[in-house]
Amino acid sequence: MGEKRTVPEVDREAAARRAVQMRRARAAVKRDLATRVVTPQQIAQQAFAEPRSVPGSLRITDFLTALPAIGAGKRDRILQQLSISDVKRLGGLGRRQRHDLLEWLDERFPPAAPRDNRSRLLVLAGPTAVGKGTVAEKIRQEHPDIVLSVSATTRAPRPGETDGVHYYFVSDAEFDRLIADNELLEYATVHNRHRYGTPRRPIEEALAAGKTVLLEIDLQGARQVRRAEPSATLIFLLPPSWDELVQRLVGRGTEDAEERARRLRTAKVELASQAEFDYRIVNADVAAAAQDVVDLSTDSAQPTI
Ligand code: 5GP
Repeated sequence: MGEKRTVPEVDREAAARRAVQMRRARAAVKRDLATRVVTPQQIAQQAFAEPRSVPGSLRITDFLTALPAIGAGKRDRILQQLSISDVKRLGGLGRRQRHDLLEWLDERFPPAAPRDNRSRLLVLAGPTAVGKGTVAEKIRQEHPDIVLSVSATTRAPRPGETDGVHYYFVSDAEFDRLIADNELLEYATVHNRHRYGTPRRPIEEALAAGKTVLLEIDLQGARQVRRAEPSATLIFLLPPSWDELVQRLVGRGTEDAEERARRLRTAKVELASQAEFDYRIVNADVAAAAQDVVDLSTDSAQPTI
């Protein structure tokens, strides 16, 4: 009898713990949706494939309001239009409702159309702390045939950085001169602080010599390259999740709390612009992400004739 009373209690505790974990996991998915680290279509597909998964247990109402620019009013109109009751969970939608929801999502959040014209000019951008530098460094080690552009910057070298290898460290006056003489393909003030720019000549020479060139620059720079060289291949590096991005930024410990908050605000803006890019690569594993970038260059895509 006594045993009968304790077992359910243990069960209840375990169930309560599971419920808390599920709630936390659902909150993390909502953050990923709001910051566009994942697409709504990805979450919906996961929910339909695994109704008992975290995405499957999301209420349709929470799913919709987690999407960028969808408030309560819009949410209710969408539910009415799709004939979905507001008590439904994503995993519990019927066949017709799933189909209609996916169709609506594709219209509202069009999936990026893959480009088929690849170029030898690769631009790698992405939010703070996503690991652009680490992925670029991996490519430098594994693919010496790919030319990594060395930027000019007005910031001071960090320990271990060499002038001419990691950056050209220049004064403000020298940076002004580079701009005036049209020696930069693009330039920008990053994180409201220092100026960074891509020297034009080494890139033109490498491309003329038939080499693949990789630029690791910020979003503003990527946009300028797109305007200057419309055929450039723009790649956006994504974190596996929003929480992971925050962890990486905190973990590297190179910024104080105020600077971290500022970078995370910039990261949200940058993530919102990922649709401008030709390709998106999730940086879950550095070696795999580096290989994915290399695979996007013309030379690995098609044999040169
Ligand atoms: P860090 O100071 O940590 O080396 O770099 C800060 C940011 O500047 C990174 O997001 C990096 O992508 C960006 N960056 C580095 N070089 C360039 C460049 O030549 N042009 C632009 N627009 N951004 C750059």
